[in-house]
Amino acid sequence: MKFNTKTIHGGQEHDPAYGSVMPPIYQTSTYAQSTPGGHKGYEYSRTHNPTRNALEKAFASIENGTYGLAFGSGLAAIDAVIKLLKPGDEVISTNDLYGGTYRLFTKVFEGFGIKFHFIGMENAHRVEEYVNERTKLIWAETPTNPMMNIIDIKALAAISKKHGLLLGVDNTFATPYLQLPLDLGADIVMHSATKYLGGHSDVVMGALVVSDKELADRLYFIQNASGAVCGPQDSFLVLRGIKTLHIRMQRHCENGAMIARFLKDHPKIEKVYWPGFEDHPNHEIAKSQMRDFGGMISFVTKGNDYDEAIKIVERLKIFTLAESLGGVESLAGHPASMTHASIPKEEREKTGVVDSLIRLSVGIEDVDDLVDDLKQAIG
Ligand SMILES: *Cc1c(COP(=O)(O)O)cnc(C)c1O
Repeated sequence: MKFNTKTIHGGQEHDPAYGSVMPPIYQTSTYAQSTPGGHKGYEYSRTHNPTRNALEKAFASIENGTYGLAFGSGLAAIDAVIKLLKPGDEVISTNDLYGGTYRLFTKVFEGFGIKFHFIGMENAHRVEEYVNERTKLIWAETPTNPMMNIIDIKALAAISKKHGLLLGVDNTFATPYLQLPLDLGADIVMHSATKYLGGHSDVVMGALVVSDKELADRLYFIQNASGAVCGPQDSFLVLRGIKTLHIRMQRHCENGAMIARFLKDHPKIEKVYWPGFEDHPNHEIAKSQMRDFGGMISFVTKGNDYDEAIKIVERLKIFTLAESLGGVESLAGHPASMTHASIPKEEREKTGVVDSLIRLSVGIEDVDDLVDDLKQAIG
């Protein structure tokens, strides 16, 4: 099955009760048993729920994996991954990382004795310098947030295989439409399904997909034991969102390319970060591991003035000033004061998150309206 068919049919079957084409929203916490243990595969909805299971199969299908797991948020999904580890274990992570992930690693899991090394992974061989006998996991985000660096997943997979580590990739920005980390050698793919998979800014959800049975069993155990699952209504919404993922992504990419080029030519813009530019430092890797370049763009204004950047995002009318990304509507964010406010200023400036950096999640509106909006806002 090709990707554009998988988004609609992957892992799905019509409901056996009445043949409903979409899975019903099984809004139930528990399931009747005829005799103790006599049930139809479902006992309690933290463990299993038919609507959630339909979604989990869809996750596995679109990521070319075997096992999918749905969580109450993207961070709950990452939380489950780190719970595979033990005190004393070490993780090598991207430094240009979603702010909430950085907070989870440093403020929660460091307290449980897990050590994190945050490094730039654009030169994948640097990762090997941090590997020691306690290293268990490499955690990567690509494209990175918000600097749009591209990390070579195949090169990381080679290092993780050589040293017997797990490689986890946060595929939220790219989505499986653009890149398939399991095919490139990763062990775990993670999503904030809140973003492109849901696609309509109406659900908070997380996902993991793996192919290894033993790893899947350990993660299912954690999912049930820790209990950070999502509800059936949200499962239904994300399943519906995935059905249009391929056409939404196609338009996100088209609009993204036009806006990246418009910004690059704008006299008041200093720099535009978008992996589709030939002079992007990792453009070749982007071309080789991604189908297209996505709808996420960051830019810095000339003079790098904090107040000017705030004025631009305030003036936008069609772009909404908001956290998050990946919905049908265009959003703009100011990482230094919003998504990355939890990362200390020196830390974030080291990775390029300067005061005037603005991040766009380009939606699927008419691109002329989006360009006009940016024109009037930048002035
Ligand atoms: C939003 C986001 C997360 C966290 O997901 P939630 O659903 O908000 O918990 C993790 N990684 C990336 C790249 C994100 O954009």
